[in-house]
Amino acid sequence: MDFTPHDDLAAHRDAARRWGAEHLRPEWVADERLRGDHHHAELHRLLADQGLLAAGWPPEHGGSAVDERFADAVFDEIHDYGLASDGWITTWMVLKTLQRVGTEEQKRAVIPAALRGEVIIALGYTEPGCGSDLAAARTRAVRAGDGWLIDGAKMFTSTADRATHVFLLTRTSAPKHRGLTFFLVPLDAPGVEIQPVHTVGGQRTNATFYSGVRVPDGARVGDVDGGWDVVRIAMVFERGTRNGNHRPGLLDRVVADRPDLLSDPGAAGTLARLRIDEEVARLLTARAEWITRNGGLPGVEGSMAKLYTSEAAQRQHSALLDLLGPEGVLDQRAPDAPVAGEVEFAFRNSLVDTIYGGTSEIMREIVAAGRLGLPRSRPAT
Ligand SMILES: Cc1cc2nc3c(=O)[nH]c(=O)nc-3n(C[C@H](O)[C@H](O)[C@H](O)COP(=O)(O)OP(=O)(O)OC[C@H]3O[C@@H](n4cnc5c(N)ncnc54)[C@H](O)[C@@H]3O)c2cc1C
Repeated sequence: MDFTPHDDLAAHRDAARRWGAEHLRPEWVADERLRGDHHHAELHRLLADQGLLAAGWPPEHGGSAVDERFADAVFDEIHDYGLASDGWITTWMVLKTLQRVGTEEQKRAVIPAALRGEVIIALGYTEPGCGSDLAAARTRAVRAGDGWLIDGAKMFTSTADRATHVFLLTRTSAPKHRGLTFFLVPLDAPGVEIQPVHTVGGQRTNATFYSGVRVPDGARVGDVDGGWDVVRIAMVFERGTRNGNHRPGLLDRVVADRPDLLSDPGAAGTLARLRIDEEVARLLTARAEWITRNGGLPGVEGSMAKLYTSEAAQRQHSALLDLLGPEGVLDQRAPDAPVAGEVEFAFRNSLVDTIYGGTSEIMREIVAAGRLGLPRSRPAT
């Protein structure tokens, strides 16, 4: 692996900090926490207007001249500030998938519009009856004239309430893997219903329902019955990418708030272990991002990064709560909450990290089979 891009990234960090100081607003954090939808429309617009969403994309798809590594540093800054960018992260995953499997028409229409901030895409994979086993999807799409009619229900369609489209996994024929097809469905289409689901992490996700939703054949992504090949690509882009629960500055802020911790050898040892954990997580993510940036698909590497990063975040937030003592559980509304309630929030927020995008058990299975060469616990697909 070549570490150069991420060494360069360090050089962009100061500029990103200045960008953050100039543009990020505390009321956006308050807003996001209150609504829990992990996406802020004003921030999204700003990122689009400044060409930050379009950084690193080819000019023919609407890419901007902004340095991709500066954009990465800005996203780190945004997440460390306490803001999530899930609406963009899920959109990015679908755009990356479209780049590989979309038609020329889809690439020309959808990618530039998303980079301009006009198209936001939620992921519609999970159903009330299937999550890890996506091949059991039952949401049905049947041919109707020159288009399709979709009926079914999806669970945990995060940011659907803020998005313009959902990337929908449907069943078009035979059971299991060979009868699945993807569609890019406008969320304002007649027959789509969105209901909020609030989580312990403070996140608002959604249950979404589709009753006789009509889409043209041009909304189909990939081949009819070829959805399994599409989801395997899309899932790779879901793992091994930076996300809003990664807060590089949190350890420093805890130490700044409670400098006494450093003079306690037990606490200092814990903080050192957490720092090492964080660095390993950062490097695993950097490797997966590097593979993506160079046109590859970080299958096993992304799963390794996802597994380690999500479990390291949970270890970190749990250990920090212990170090802060009883006051650690005070939330942001309590005036004397340590680190303004950041650890309490991060603790609740990272609970879901080991679930969405593939649970830790599934990640271990991929690493065990794909890297360690151990036998699979279920038949290969
Ligand atoms: C806050 C939140 C946001 C989400 N956002 C989205 C979203 O935007 N779009 C979307 O489509 N989905 C989303 N999800 C869904 C998420 O991807 C699924 O919850 C996850 O894949 C697990 O599926 P499940 O909930 O059906 O659990 P199940 O698949 O039923 O798993 C239950 C348990 O069994 C274990 N298990 C299952 N299969 C195996 C196996 N083969 N080997 C070993 N253990 C196994 C799992 O690890 C888990 O512990 C979100 C979930 C949450 C909590």
